[in-house]
Amino acid sequence: MLYGSEVMQSIFSITRKKLEDYFIDLGDKKFRATQIYEWIYRKGVRNFDEMSNISKKNIDRLKQDFCFNNLKIIKKQEDELVKKYLFELSDGNKIESVLMEHDYGLSLCISSQIGCNMGCAFCESGRLKKVRDLKTDEMLLQVMEVEKDLGERISHVVIMGIGEPFDNYDNFMDFIRIITDPYSLALGQRHITVSTSGIVPKIKEFADEETGVNLAISLHAPNNEIRSKIMKINNAYKIEEIMDAVKYYLEKTNRRVTFEYIMLKNVNDSKECAYELSKLLKGINCYVNLIPYNETENIEFKRSKTSQIGEFYDILKKNNINVTIRKEFGSKVSAACGQLRAEVEKSIKEDKGV
Ligand code: SF4
Repeated sequence: MLYGSEVMQSIFSITRKKLEDYFIDLGDKKFRATQIYEWIYRKGVRNFDEMSNISKKNIDRLKQDFCFNNLKIIKKQEDELVKKYLFELSDGNKIESVLMEHDYGLSLCISSQIGCNMGCAFCESGRLKKVRDLKTDEMLLQVMEVEKDLGERISHVVIMGIGEPFDNYDNFMDFIRIITDPYSLALGQRHITVSTSGIVPKIKEFADEETGVNLAISLHAPNNEIRSKIMKINNAYKIEEIMDAVKYYLEKTNRRVTFEYIMLKNVNDSKECAYELSKLLKGINCYVNLIPYNETENIEFKRSKTSQIGEFYDILKKNNINVTIRKEFGSKVSAACGQLRAEVEKSIKEDKGV
């Protein structure tokens, strides 16, 4: 039996397909799964007893196997177009999500793990080692709780907060299946972006899923020498392997890839780097997102000068690479890229009375 009563699973972590199998196992019809989805996602019911089209016998069984849980918002900080949410999970761990108001809608950046083992040298989030993966429901509930708090729908979700989503692949994929389900939040696949530091086998696996979800690669360097200094993952997967996986993804999906590139002063922001990056990406259906670095007190890296970022941008442009400079959000509330750890760490210290 797949869903034994000894394991109480969150109802928000089960895909409709798995719920169909569950009902078939119970000797019922698979459309019960759709009925349950309608109750919990459309009507907002949080109690199996209210599900009037489900038999008493199956309600009793559902109550044994599944629970309704939520994430508790314990802090909310705002800075113009940004809101940062600090959540407490049922085991007391804390995670963060960041809401950004764009002209095209509301975009929520969610976390996929508690801490992160990838150890990117410039990343505040990565200094907190991985405590555990987030479960599917813990990813989904970040979106649902923020929507509830705002009383508005979120139009875009990016999985770029704390954690490496491809290091939590199965839960991440179930999250994608649920959030895009027409009977759940029905978020368009193209309104979702997942960012990876470059776990090559998972990039290929993700390409095979043919989801329509956007892929972003945290590249941050034009060659292995620089990348290995700032991203530990480059010791496992070299740039050439990443580019091979990206080409495979492009062949499979016919979609464009984004390369994220944090501009670090005197590390990866020279003209030579810009030319080398142009050469590396020549002919690839992609665009580059240049990210001005947000300095933090714990990390020695400095932000590139604005003029340097401009020169880097111009070189890519002249070499026919699609490029943008990321609009800066939320640095006042430590919500900007690479700063998500500070608040989680602070709340851990407060819990411990440090
Ligand atoms: S940049 Fe992303 S993958 Fe790298 S340490 Fe930070 S959270 Fe982890």
